[in-house]
Amino acid sequence: MSSKNTLQIALPVPLPGCFDYALHGTVIPPRGSRVKVPFGRRTLIGLVHGHAPSDYPKLKAVEAVIDEEPVLPDELYQLCERAARYYHHPLGEVLNYALPTLLRQGGDAQASLEKRWQISERGQHVSDDQVSRAPRQRDALRILREHPQGLSSAMLAALDVSASALNSLREKSWANQIHVDTRPEVPRETLAQAPLAANAEQRGAIQAIQKAKGFAPFLLDGITGSGKTEVYLQAMAPLLAAGKQVMVLVPEIGLTPQTVQRFKQRFAVPVVTLHSGLSDRERLDNWLAAREGHARIIIGTRSAIFTPMLNPALIIVDEAHDSSLKQQDGFRYHARDLATWRAQQLEIPVILGSATPALETLHLTRQGRFQWLKLSQRATAQSRPPIEIVDARLAPPGNPLLPLSLQALKQCVEAGNQGLVFINRRGYAPMILCHDCGWQAECKRCDSFLTWHRNDQALRCHHCGYQQPVPSRCPDCGSSAIQEAGSGTEKLTELLEQSLPVPVIRIDRDATRRKGALDAHLAQIQKGEPAVMVGTQMLAKGHHFPKLTLVVILDMDSGFLSADFRGPEQAAQLLLQVAGRSGREGKGRVILQSRHPDHHLLQLAASGDYPQLATTLLEERQMAGLPPHGHLALFRCEAMTMGTAMNFLQQLSTTAVPQDVHVLGPIPAPMEKRAGRFRTQLLLQCSQRAPLHQALNVLLEQARKLPEGRQCRWHVDVDPIDM
Ligand code: ADP
Ligand code: ZN
Ligand code: ZN
Repeated sequence: MSSKNTLQIALPVPLPGCFDYALHGTVIPPRGSRVKVPFGRRTLIGLVHGHAPSDYPKLKAVEAVIDEEPVLPDELYQLCERAARYYHHPLGEVLNYALPTLLRQGGDAQASLEKRWQISERGQHVSDDQVSRAPRQRDALRILREHPQGLSSAMLAALDVSASALNSLREKSWANQIHVDTRPEVPRETLAQAPLAANAEQRGAIQAIQKAKGFAPFLLDGITGSGKTEVYLQAMAPLLAAGKQVMVLVPEIGLTPQTVQRFKQRFAVPVVTLHSGLSDRERLDNWLAAREGHARIIIGTRSAIFTPMLNPALIIVDEAHDSSLKQQDGFRYHARDLATWRAQQLEIPVILGSATPALETLHLTRQGRFQWLKLSQRATAQSRPPIEIVDARLAPPGNPLLPLSLQALKQCVEAGNQGLVFINRRGYAPMILCHDCGWQAECKRCDSFLTWHRNDQALRCHHCGYQQPVPSRCPDCGSSAIQEAGSGTEKLTELLEQSLPVPVIRIDRDATRRKGALDAHLAQIQKGEPAVMVGTQMLAKGHHFPKLTLVVILDMDSGFLSADFRGPEQAAQLLLQVAGRSGREGKGRVILQSRHPDHHLLQLAASGDYPQLATTLLEERQMAGLPPHGHLALFRCEAMTMGTAMNFLQQLSTTAVPQDVHVLGPIPAPMEKRAGRFRTQLLLQCSQRAPLHQALNVLLEQARKLPEGRQCRWHVDVDPIDM
């Protein structure tokens, strides 16, 4: 008997809702399993969302059912649904995002297993007479008989067994190829290294986490070097011993070998990583190992929050204030918030760890919605070095370093230690200009200057990737008096190489592009010989440099002065993070060069009193109705002309929305033109979330209808972090 059903399929297309397809047959694939369906002229892979009996005649039919079992467990499917609703992003795209690439492409949801040749039952009983005329098959049989567990092709080749002999055995059903799971068993004793003796604060935190039952959100608020990682490790130990799994999210740049190593050293359990550096196959294998419960510790960057787990027991978000946890294109979600939702759904604890918690998290904690675990001392005997603010306006022309800073670096390396100079700008100089007419090299496609990369003899736009050769004469007046302004990592490295008798190691995206380059640089630093590092944000996090006793910070001012309301918060976080690299195992010193040494927020940040700074900033935000005291969503639009980009949002802004929602703009984006497109934005602000989401629904429906929208690219960003 044939029956017909309608399946609702979530497809990876930028349209809301699911799509109906007819399914012939009686076996209905469950929610979360993959199917192939025709869509326009293409064939797409989507996930089954639901089904209902149907007689509707005109539906297109499902082409193929790929899975009999869901690829995503229901719990994860629900997380995707909640995220799709909250971020107003199509469910099909969210689900697609949650899948490893090979599964998106329809690949097998099976771990790659080792292939082996094994003797069959019939092969066991073959007598030598039967193979007397085929000596190669006889030898092959003998070897396989001696290895009842089977042998890999490589092993057999090494034993001189030919592929043709094996194929002949298979034809006679005397041997088979089998797939074997060669992953090591998890040992019964999961602890590989004794824990450190926790101090009183650490002990309090560990006990609170271990006592937690069901959903329990924690803020582990501990200054850099206070031993947060030790708290994670000890809180995890009993869970791992009970066969459970722990997920650890780290910032993009935090996923260093050092971080992963600390977990691997402590526990004798399988640890997998999930990050952009893996091949598709590795990623799928690690994902499956987590889903099957084999991987016990799952360490990954933001997208790892979508990893399925068989026995989840704890989620940890390290450096939970870090902006890399927010995805800034396509599906714009915040992994920190998803981590909390997921823990809630799974009824397990979640730990947000940070030395400088996001104001949102701090606010929730002060309201009592997160349990507050504080670590106020460095775990080692060292105290945190104070930050000395010095006036950068006294620097000699053309040199970003103050004589005092250079002197301090000299003393530091002469004493056999290491120094770090932090400058958040790659390249040789952020600008070149004509001395005679004032011409400046600008990107043709963006509102920005081109950075001079002297090593590569190129001018480069850091926003769109545009690149051109360095002109020898001014394109406007023909003068050859072209000069640079400002300094980046390359120039600073050159200056320091001229002034210091020790190696100067540059660490930025350009110097570490080659695979393995970052590890090589870090290894050189770990050797502990006197040296100075010059680095960007890449150096700020996760690294532990035992010999580092001096940090010089250049140019942190722009963040504190920024028009973006998050500017000072982010600048303070970065400042304390960079400063925290100094003196982890010896006496440390931190020098902050500033052109605004009297700025009160900068001074507050430098004093190390982050809680007081947070209170000040939170008061300002309360007055302005800004997060966490109000909620924001942003419509961003880009088009070939400013008029088109403005017009669309202008039209949209006339839509009626719930009364409490303020619609502000449209206005040009902070960077008006980028990669050849003009950009505008419309801000929605409301003290409550519910009306904001209602407004978004109304506006999104309208935006899809407006003809002006077809000449633009636009998207919605809920809880935007850059604006
Ligand atoms: P955080 O993650 O808070 O910055 P870490 O966990 O990296 O701090 O710890 C900083 C240093 O202190 C590490 O070298 C760590 O081994 C050490 N440490 C942590 N806890 C203790 C402890 N209880 N006793 C001794 N050393 C500790
Ligand atoms: Zn000129
Ligand atoms: Zn550009």
